[in-house]
Amino acid sequence: MKSKTETIIISSMNLGEADKLVTFFSLDRGMLKGVAKNARKSFKRFGAGLESFTLVRLHLYEREHQELARIESADIIEQHAGIGCDLGRAAAGAVMLELVREMSPLGEQNAPAFLLLARVLHILDEGGDPVFLLSIFEIKFLSLLGYQPKLDHCLSCGCRPKGEILFLGMKGGFLCPDCLVSSGEPQTRLSPGAVGFYYQVLRMDMDKVCRLKPTTGIMRELGQAFATHTFHILGKRLRSTDFLKTIMSL
Ligand SMILES: [Zn+2]
Repeated sequence: MKSKTETIIISSMNLGEADKLVTFFSLDRGMLKGVAKNARKSFKRFGAGLESFTLVRLHLYEREHQELARIESADIIEQHAGIGCDLGRAAAGAVMLELVREMSPLGEQNAPAFLLLARVLHILDEGGDPVFLLSIFEIKFLSLLGYQPKLDHCLSCGCRPKGEILFLGMKGGFLCPDCLVSSGEPQTRLSPGAVGFYYQVLRMDMDKVCRLKPTTGIMRELGQAFATHTFHILGKRLRSTDFLKTIMSL
C-alpha cells in the first residue's frame, strides 16, 4: 500500500552498502521506522530529506505485517539547517528528538505532539533560545503524552503549596511538609515563580509563551525537575543531556 505522510526525521543511520534506516515522527501515525533503499546513492529521490530535524513529506510503501515501511522518496518542507549550525541549538534539539523517540509508542498517532515539535523546531531554527525552548517543549510534550506533573496541590492531602515545594520525580508531583516522610529520594526545590511559570506554559499557546521572560534560576529549577521526572518515566537518563550540559558549561 502506498501512502504519504508529513514527518519530522528523528534519526537515520547507514544500513548495508547504500541504504538508510530512518526513524521518524509522523503527523498522522506517530513514531515509525522505515528503510530508504539506495538512499546514499540517490540524491534525486531523497536529497537532504533524511537528515535529523527535517520536516519532510515521505512517500511510503508498506506491506501488511511488516514492521519497517519502505521509504520511496522525500520532499523537504522545512530543512531546519539553522539548528545544526549552532552547538547550543543542536544540543537542545537532540534532547527533544531523543525525548520524542524514547517516549512515543510506535505507530500511535499524536497530532498535537507532532505540531508542537514542528513549531518548536521552527522557532529553534530561527535562533530561539535553546534552553528556554527545551524547557517549554518538555513541559508541553510530557503533558500531551499524559505525564504532566501536578504542582498545584499536595499528592497526598490535596493542600495548596505555600511557598517553595519539594518535587518528587518518581511521583510526578510534591508532598507538603506534613505528608512528606523522607524516602531518601532526591528532591528538587521549586520556587513559586517556577511553579507559576510552569502553569503559564501549560495554559498558553506557543506564540504567547515565547513572550515570557523567566529568570535563569527558574529555568534551572524546571530543568532539574523534568530531568528527574523523565528519568523515572523512562527508567534511564537521556544520553543527549550530557552533550547539552557540556555545551552550556562552555
Ligand atoms: Zn499534604
